[in-house]
Amino acid sequence: MPETASRTALEAVLDTVAAAIGPDHVVRSADPAALLPAEANVSAFAARALNAVLRPGSAEEVRSVVRAFDEHGGARAGLPGLHTVSTGRNWGLGSKEPAVGPVVRLELDRLDAVRDLDVEAGYAVVEPGVTQAVLAARLAGTARMLNVTASSGHTSLLGNLVDRGVGLRRQRTEDLLGLEAVLPDGRLVRTGWWPGTSAGRAVNPYGLGPSTLHLFTQSPLAVITAAVVRLLPRPEAQRVVRLSFGREELPAAVDLIRRWRAGNVVSGVVKIYDTASTATYGGEGGHGYLAHVCVDATAGTLDALAGALVEEARAAGLFGRIAAGEEPAADDTVSKVVQAAYSGSVEFNEDMLASATGTRADLVDAEGKGWIFFLPLIPFTGADTARALALLDTVHEETGIRPGATVNALDADVIDLVVSFPFDRATQAEAAHRALDRAYALFAAAGWAPYRLDSAHGGWGREHAPDAENAALVLDVARLVDPNGTFAPGRYL
Ligand SMILES: Cc1cc2nc3c(=O)[nH]c(=O)nc-3n(C[C@H](O)[C@H](O)[C@H](O)COP(=O)(O)OP(=O)(O)OC[C@H]3O[C@@H](n4cnc5c(N)ncnc54)[C@H](O)[C@@H]3O)c2cc1C
Repeated sequence: MPETASRTALEAVLDTVAAAIGPDHVVRSADPAALLPAEANVSAFAARALNAVLRPGSAEEVRSVVRAFDEHGGARAGLPGLHTVSTGRNWGLGSKEPAVGPVVRLELDRLDAVRDLDVEAGYAVVEPGVTQAVLAARLAGTARMLNVTASSGHTSLLGNLVDRGVGLRRQRTEDLLGLEAVLPDGRLVRTGWWPGTSAGRAVNPYGLGPSTLHLFTQSPLAVITAAVVRLLPRPEAQRVVRLSFGREELPAAVDLIRRWRAGNVVSGVVKIYDTASTATYGGEGGHGYLAHVCVDATAGTLDALAGALVEEARAAGLFGRIAAGEEPAADDTVSKVVQAAYSGSVEFNEDMLASATGTRADLVDAEGKGWIFFLPLIPFTGADTARALALLDTVHEETGIRPGATVNALDADVIDLVVSFPFDRATQAEAAHRALDRAYALFAAAGWAPYRLDSAHGGWGREHAPDAENAALVLDVARLVDPNGTFAPGRYL
């Protein structure tokens, strides 16, 4: 479709949308031919062409928006694709930026209802604008807790979950029970487990037969308007043990911690911060590495379990300092965040964000210090961890950008290695992006793949698809669900 015709079509769609959701919730340029001004993001990723921002206030309004674009023919008719964010605080991976443009962005933070909360059964039904701080506060003092992340309390639970983020207890996908998804033709489907339906009262995210639940995570095939999220039983008693060690001890220390995790002596996500990441996130300097392990127990068994673990740690002779149950020092932000977050609290998360980016959540993209994430998975062994850290030394030598590394052991077998590249936005953006590209290349050559992508590496998943036939099948499904290309291509598809 010629440029002018598609612009006219876009104006017509935006008029329809403005009538449905109110003109105040449609941001568009006064000149129909002009794009909106480019917005900054904390990672200095390229801004994609943005035609409009739409802020619907309900699932019904989302349906009207999507239907309007689809009825006018979507990308087939030359319209920009719809790109959805919840709170858009995907810092380090592109924030609100899509993988490709042009787009019209849907922001869903006005959908902020906790639709249902059942502490007894252990689930909540939340909309995209519900932040982890809001739900964590609702659960304080109850027998359930939320699997919170270390990011700001003002980030979306649902947004992080559909991007397959990682909390302190486990990967958020494991908390996912059900999704409410608006399809391109405006249909609203509920997939997975939903309370009060024939799915039964005991939660079963897989249902019976083929499941479409993960068709909509890391996926541009629907706008998600609600999620059913599992709430974890709050352990009766908990103690966080912190262990410091140097680089020479790293392989043996990681292997010992892996034994504890495999034996279920420690639970949740084991966190190990290196010196660089401790310095940027805000913590006690000079440790080398600081591991945080969490012992969950009953009131009567905690001392015995934690005591036995500390004994074993001492006997290993690997750790310079062992702190069991001690309150972190007032300026040890990392330890305060981790200890609180293991028990479902985001009380100190804003301090860590301020330490990492120099500012508060609503200002991070506009004026925060530069920040990029690279997120590969590696096997949970001491040898693999040491090799991965050596690759980061190479990146540092080649680019001058010093990456920070946090080991997030998700279970007994897999580490989510959180690599952060802090940089000066005025002078180091080019070097930081080179460092990111080198990390992608070096880790791929070592046989390690990322599990989340940033907006500059949207094609990575396609280029490195492990199976071509499966990739083709996914494309067939995508065409079936979104034949007009009403949704913009995402980072993963
Ligand atoms: C200091 C610091 C610490 C951090 N710690 C963590 C951490 O511990 N764990 C972690 O996982 N991340 C962490 N992050 C990264 C990031 O801040 C979080 O992942 C954050 O939750 C993502 O932003 P959001 O919740 O606003 O999601 P959004 O930006 O709204 O969504 C993320 C993506 O999901 C998709 N999406 C979102 N909503 C919808 C929807 N309704 N329908 C369809 N698709 C949708 C889109 O592709 C979107 O780009 C950290 C960042 C910093 C700076």
